Amino acid sequence: MADTNGVTIHPAVDNGIKSGNSNLSGGVLTCHCATNPVKVRVGAQTAHNHVCGCTKCWKPDGAVFSQVAVVSRDAVEVQENGDKLEIVNADAPIQRYRCNGCGVHLYGRIENKDHPFYGLDFVHTELSDEDGWSAPEFAAFVSSVIESGVDPMRMDGIRARLRELGLEPYDALSPPLMDAIATHIAKRSGALPA
Ligand SMILES: [Zn+2]
Ligand SMILES: [Zn+2]
Repeated sequence: MADTNGVTIHPAVDNGIKSGNSNLSGGVLTCHCATNPVKVRVGAQTAHNHVCGCTKCWKPDGAVFSQVAVVSRDAVEVQENGDKLEIVNADAPIQRYRCNGCGVHLYGRIENKDHPFYGLDFVHTELSDEDGWSAPEFAAFVSSVIESGVDPMRMDGIRARLRELGLEPYDALSPPLMDAIATHIAKRSGALPA
């Protein structure tokens, strides 16, 4: 078994995973600006929370992974200082809205109606003071942390630590989400009945 001493993943999980509260009805995400922070109201509990190793998700300083969940786009509303929001890459499937003051991503949105996850926004619930957001369930795009500069020699330790936390490591999304994407594609192509 690889040594997991000192292996950090993300501040929200490094001391163990807090369970979610099914009664939570949402909260307010706030960016890191000391003055005039952007505030975004999320009016529902999130789903499919996970840690993500891809290079596109926003990560807090020093974290190897991001923590990201989804919620219906209808539940996401910019409340304050929305003029500071800019789209990181308008050509990416997920348009991530970043604060131009501090760099924090407030939400990611899909505008392509054919995308399997259209209708869901991507949010980082650690930006909220509320407790009880849905707990992270797995680790996605684990191998991709190497693209951010993590030494490949550290991967055994990182995967061992993820398993220790109960976050099964996958190098894409989890099997249920990969199946959902493939089903969507098969229904569009006619390989499965729509
Ligand atoms: Zn900011
Ligand atoms: Zn990601």
